[in-house]
Amino acid sequence: MIGADYLLDRAFYDRVRSSSLTSRPVSTGLIPPNNGYGFEVMAGQTFRVVLHEAPQVADLLVWNRSDPKERFCAPRTATLEGWFIKVGSRLWSDVPWLRPLATCITDTVVSTDPEFHHHFVGSHCAPEWIELRGGPAGSNACHVNLLQAIEPFGLSEADIPDGNLNLHQKHRIDPTDGVFYGTRSEGSAGDYVEFYAELDLLAAVSVCPNGDNTRYWSEPGDPLYPIRIEVFESGIAPRSFRRWSDWRSNWTGRWVPPAGYESSQGLTPQRAQRAKSP
Ligand SMILES: [Zn+2]
Repeated sequence: MIGADYLLDRAFYDRVRSSSLTSRPVSTGLIPPNNGYGFEVMAGQTFRVVLHEAPQVADLLVWNRSDPKERFCAPRTATLEGWFIKVGSRLWSDVPWLRPLATCITDTVVSTDPEFHHHFVGSHCAPEWIELRGGPAGSNACHVNLLQAIEPFGLSEADIPDGNLNLHQKHRIDPTDGVFYGTRSEGSAGDYVEFYAELDLLAAVSVCPNGDNTRYWSEPGDPLYPIRIEVFESGIAPRSFRRWSDWRSNWTGRWVPPAGYESSQGLTPQRAQRAKSP
């Protein structure tokens, strides 16, 4: 259940998609294998994550450009949108902002199972994660690629959240045993996923060593393929989703225990000490 102010306006995004389909990109970037790439997307612009040559997993993160503490939050997004990214999926930030940062407007990949594709389950790969699972040491994994992407914008490792979007990474969750299964991406050269920026964003994309999602890491000689980024000007201003603290004018960020409240341990609730939201 989502409040009325945040319901998906499909007609609005249909207009954005039509604009993008008849436009030329205002900027492009090509990310070679074993690299990450950061770029700004202004409110009202769209960006595509494109398979440049062949199926290739691309990990994506977005931050509010003017306040990067507000960033994509996978668990909040999953609760509201489901675990898989489809046309109309919004990428939400966490409290105290709690609003859509970007909206998926196009997915050209034709999947034989629509519940089995781009997702944000789990996290991204990291050199430690790959080595722990038996792979080579010191891989150019998504964690370091994403760090490479954001450092030029003044962000650091602490700004990388646990959960991110895994585009062109075909997975499903088995409903009987809950296990997460992966298989080869069904995309092909030219396929893309496109997002509309609801506010000024910083975005980062990593070319994942999983390749086409048929392995967990890369050994020397394994094929990896570049990812292309294209940014478009839609000319359509966003709806400007308000932050939680904007529409709840009496919000203080503090929880005041009711009279006589006592926790089961007899302790003073620590949440009462929480700082006021920005
Ligand atoms: Zn990865």
